[in-house]
Amino acid sequence: MKLETRVADAIEKLAEDHGATVKYKEDSLLMKIIGWPLSFINKTFSSTFATTIGKTIYLPSKTMKKRRPRNYSIMLAHELMHVVDHKNDVMFGVKYLCPQVLGFLALLAIPFSLFNLLWLLCFFPWPAYWRTKSESRGYAVTIAMIYWLDGSQTKSEWMVKHFTGGNYYYMWPFEDDVKRDLDAIKVRVANDDILNLDPLLVELKEIIARERANEKRSS
Ligand SMILES: [Zn+2]
Repeated sequence: MKLETRVADAIEKLAEDHGATVKYKEDSLLMKIIGWPLSFINKTFSSTFATTIGKTIYLPSKTMKKRRPRNYSIMLAHELMHVVDHKNDVMFGVKYLCPQVLGFLALLAIPFSLFNLLWLLCFFPWPAYWRTKSESRGYAVTIAMIYWLDGSQTKSEWMVKHFTGGNYYYMWPFEDDVKRDLDAIKVRVANDDILNLDPLLVELKEIIARERANEKRSS
């Protein structure tokens, strides 16, 4: 079995140990319902993006693991960071969706004053501080996984676009700020300080080292 497939298997097991469930967007009615309005701002929401709700991780498709085990592992590890953060903070989901989620408070206009319609302003793509913080931790995992698997740093440009563009509803449109944050993460990955970010990083690094050692032993 290829190293990348072994790593994917081991990360699936790790996800299970953390209480996460892996499902697939192609089979999920919920993801189809959520995906339709989101497809206007993120065209590849269903085909290339993973989404985590609570402890359930929705990956694009069942066949991804077989077709692209490396990408599958990186994506699953990233989402697992969100599961761990959700377990550590009951308000994680609400914070992640702030401030846009506050727009639903406009419903208060029905029983109360029409002034509550002002909450609708929250639906605009205001900078989303907590979403940015969560994704910074998620992309720290992505950057680390790529470094550990490939032995080289990934380019920042594609990640910067995720932070500043429509894929995460323009969560942090300050390009220089995002670049600075990602560069700092890369330095931490290169000198192993990233292992202090969360014990999950230690577990992931150990998996790759262990499977690499197993591969050497069996060849
Ligand atoms: Zn994420």
